[in-house]
Amino acid sequence: PIPENPAGQETYRLDRAHVFHSWSAQKALDPMVITGGEGSYLFDADGKRYLDFSSQLVYTNVGHQHPKVVKAIQDQAATLATIAPAHANDKRSKAAKLITDVAPEGMNKVFFTNGGAESIENAIRMARLHTGRTKVMSQYRSYHGATHTAIQATGDPRRWANEFVPAGTVHFFGPFLYRSAFNATTAQEECDRALEHLEQMITFEGPGTIAAIVLETVPGTSGVMPPPEGYLAGVRELCDRFGIVMICDEVMAGFGRTGAWFAVDHYGITPDLITFAKGVNSGYVPMGGVIIRDEIAATFDERAFPGGLTYSGHPLAAAAAVATIEAMHEEGVVENAARIGAEVFGPELRAMQERHPSIGEVRGLGVFWALDLVKDRATKEELAPYGGAAPAVTGVLGAAKKAGLLLFNQYHRIHIVPPCNISDAEAREGLAILDEALEVADAAYEG
Ligand code: PLP
Repeated sequence: PIPENPAGQETYRLDRAHVFHSWSAQKALDPMVITGGEGSYLFDADGKRYLDFSSQLVYTNVGHQHPKVVKAIQDQAATLATIAPAHANDKRSKAAKLITDVAPEGMNKVFFTNGGAESIENAIRMARLHTGRTKVMSQYRSYHGATHTAIQATGDPRRWANEFVPAGTVHFFGPFLYRSAFNATTAQEECDRALEHLEQMITFEGPGTIAAIVLETVPGTSGVMPPPEGYLAGVRELCDRFGIVMICDEVMAGFGRTGAWFAVDHYGITPDLITFAKGVNSGYVPMGGVIIRDEIAATFDERAFPGGLTYSGHPLAAAAAVATIEAMHEEGVVENAARIGAEVFGPELRAMQERHPSIGEVRGLGVFWALDLVKDRATKEELAPYGGAAPAVTGVLGAAKKAGLLLFNQYHRIHIVPPCNISDAEAREGLAILDEALEVADAAYEG
């Protein structure tokens, strides 16, 4: 939408003339001009306020313009705006310490990157060098980033156009009872059969060829699917049995999103590598990384790690991470995410499902929720096709936006993923708007 405000119009005009946007046919774009934010809210060029239930791309875990994080970036810019990775720097050292402090026992080192995709690339590089094997197994219904190996490990349609040169990835089905690939009818059946399927995949791919299994602890973009109890422990056992490195991608699920520091905390397992980005510093300055288990780190004690990035552990990003993690501790942000998921989002979204026939399933935990929208609850036919869009879904997004609420959407799903420090009142304000907007989806219900 072209703003009414002249400065906003200029921003819009220059964007359309010169900015090449992600994932899009450029002519079809119509970006919203955003000029400010505060906490759970954003402001457009005409001063209209929006409640941000998307956390942008699910990363502003402490909300917009958190004063402590902004101040830490300002102070660091005034002290030392940049330094090469080979030097030691106080903020980088502190960030690595704070991150490993909240990671599972026995994971004591961090390799810093500039974002999620690079964290996956480097975790896979470590796994390949550690095992001397090349193949990587990953799940359908996953997103791991847009670089060479990360996009080919991805299990959504964005991979299809990116398979220029094979990256050595093989896909398997994870557990997802609502749309079970295994004809399961209970969580236990789904868990058992998904593990049996994975074991067979490993056997037939050749255990001695597989460097890593990479999976999102709780798959995010593909639909917020918390795995059944026992699944991740089963994957851990298979990895141990076959000498495969277990990589848990916590780029989206980490740093409070699920109501725990890391989603693995819910399942009592320790992976070999954890990838992170987004919430580590709420995305105020680009940062990602790999948290490395001691055994894997030891591989590179004597042998050089053949990877690096000019901005690895950039002091502005590291200062933002230190301030974010400290603020999360001081303000009980992780606890807030857990509580609001249990007391507000869980019950309220399930009640919404009773009122709206188009909601086939409600899934999630913490501040990480998805509504699976269907044309018919009996057939579970999606309200928009896999990889595509439909007016019934874009209509919900449009109605919500008009009423001042920004949502996250993929295909037939709407995700409710606000900042982890959202208040009860804000959460309820957004849910009331969503409740009305869902009437657009109900109108397309055919069941
Ligand atoms: N891994 C997961 C689970 C993600 O959700 C994302 C981004 O959405 C990525 C990796 C890629 O991160 P980035 O876009 O920072 O490269």
